[in-house]
Amino acid sequence: MKEIEFYDTRSRKQRPFTTLKPGHVGMYTCGPTVYAPQHVGNIRSRLLPDLIKRFLQSEGYEVTHVINITDVGHLVADADVGDDKMEVAARKAGLSAEEIAEKYTQMWRDDCAAVNCISPEENPKATDHIPEQIELGKRLEERGYLYTIADGVYFDTSLFPRYAELAGLDLEGQQEGARIGVTEGKKNPSDFAVWKFADPDMKRLQEWDSPWGRGFPGWHLECSAMSVRYLGERFDIHTAGIDLATVHHSNEVAQTECGFEVHPSVEFWMHNEFLDMGGEKMSKSKGNVKTLSNLSERGFDPLAFRYFFLQAHYRQQQAYTYEAIEAAARGLRRLQKIGRALELVEGDGNPGAQAPLKERFRDALADDLNAPRAMAVVWEVARSDDLADVDRRDLLRCFDLILGLRLGEDAAAESEPAWEQDPEIDGLLAERERAREVKDWATADRIRDELTALEVEIIDTPEGARWRRIAGHSG
Ligand code: AMP
Ligand code: ZN
Repeated sequence: MKEIEFYDTRSRKQRPFTTLKPGHVGMYTCGPTVYAPQHVGNIRSRLLPDLIKRFLQSEGYEVTHVINITDVGHLVADADVGDDKMEVAARKAGLSAEEIAEKYTQMWRDDCAAVNCISPEENPKATDHIPEQIELGKRLEERGYLYTIADGVYFDTSLFPRYAELAGLDLEGQQEGARIGVTEGKKNPSDFAVWKFADPDMKRLQEWDSPWGRGFPGWHLECSAMSVRYLGERFDIHTAGIDLATVHHSNEVAQTECGFEVHPSVEFWMHNEFLDMGGEKMSKSKGNVKTLSNLSERGFDPLAFRYFFLQAHYRQQQAYTYEAIEAAARGLRRLQKIGRALELVEGDGNPGAQAPLKERFRDALADDLNAPRAMAVVWEVARSDDLADVDRRDLLRCFDLILGLRLGEDAAAESEPAWEQDPEIDGLLAERERAREVKDWATADRIRDELTALEVEIIDTPEGARWRRIAGHSG
């Protein structure tokens, strides 16, 4: 059996996985900023730690997973200037910051459940941990890392020699290229706010007292404070999308390692690459986003996105297209159909026959979570004529503990719904499809009304429109 190896951003290499405490893994994931719905790019960053957790659990580790909820202090430009995303969203919607946070936290949790992510052990909110953040700020101040300027208290990155290490930053280049006047008074371009002062002329929805004056914590402080609170000063794995490595995580390392005098605070930094759309990173600021609800509206099972995620290595960029999701949905349905049919097979399998396939599947994941290679083994088993059905059943069950694709569930209800057929209704439906293709909405609507009068409901699926009789009305 292959040793487990993961790629670590800080050491820039794939190396053997070890834990600080035998048999236990502490893992922290930068969670959502809850001011808007999460897009499927964010969900990709949620699926990586889920895959890590499921894999390590199958290897016998106990995993404590912490995902924070950012409900304050994340400024629009991800920098130290601009407005707070939560404040902007709350004002726009005419709601309190708490109401906005509550709404989008719940939406994010529903999305995570829809793609079958295992709930984290801890899901702390930044606003519930203001004292811990102030405490860490005080530690940094006592150790001489902070200085105060007009708009807040800043960390002097020139005092932390390892600052550039995690992301391989070119600090001298930053100095040369620094735009004058972005934040007046900052000593170095990479210095960042630990505490921002509330503007006395503008009442904020969220502000607190602190030893430095009334205001709110810098966005980076929460992740240092909450990871230490729930996992200790040093822990095993930290995940997020690669965009957070340069600024957010470099700052997190600076705060934790200087505040608690430890190194390294994180053993493995595991960053996933972006989900792209139209050749660009999917992001709210670019407006090129799709959500899981958008997929559901088009008739896709949200798990199709999980299947899609497993088709690429997490450190490769992945392009989101309608066609790719459609293909993933087809793959998922086929696999579920096979899994469900196999669940009806009775009897005991032969562990000897299963072992080599289990090992190949496991070794693919042990090799820095090579999910596409693992999926190839899954399909080999699903399609195999050589293996006995009981062994295929057992293998798919075992694989699905890690894949989370609900392969064998609901075996009684077959995956493909049994769509009804009726020449008259089928004809009307085909006519409506043709009208829609040529954008003749008037005709399409008229036909839909005719169908409604016949007490028929139209369901748009990835394969086209299907229909069923409205409950209680048959024949
Ligand atoms: P945010 O709510 O923007 O702070 O992002 C939450 C998480 O989603 C972070 O781990 C980001 O790195 C990640 N993320 C944002 N955009 C993308 C994308 N297009 N592809 C993959 N991950 C992303
Ligand atoms: Zn974070």
